[in-house]
Amino acid sequence: MDRQLVLTIQRRHVPAGTRWTCTWCGRPWPCPRYRQLPTHGELYGRMFALMTMRLGTALSDLAGRDGPFAPCVLVRRFLWFVPLDSRDIDDLIDVLTTGWHPGPPHAVAHEQAEQPVRRPA
Ligand SMILES: [Zn+2]
Repeated sequence: MDRQLVLTIQRRHVPAGTRWTCTWCGRPWPCPRYRQLPTHGELYGRMFALMTMRLGTALSDLAGRDGPFAPCVLVRRFLWFVPLDSRDIDDLIDVLTTGWHPGPPHAVAHEQAEQPVRRPA
């Protein structure tokens, strides 16, 4: 897909507030147009990280609302490009709803640098 088209889709097809509908086309986000963005190769990791972060927020925003917002449905909606079995989905929901959130990469690197070196006795 042309880079300019990717940028246009990313700019236009964004989620609106806590309702998680697309501001451009009004469909549930990620909308069909957004789902056409490339997710292969090196883009897979970036898309996975971005969509997992947004999924965590959506699980919180949409919890208890009427509609197709069961956690397992939201996982499949946000991670449409990831082959997941029901155990993967349960694990992901568990991680995303129990307060664990990935920090920015530099924070992780900093934490790792702060770990004491353990040497065998
Ligand atoms: Zn859209």
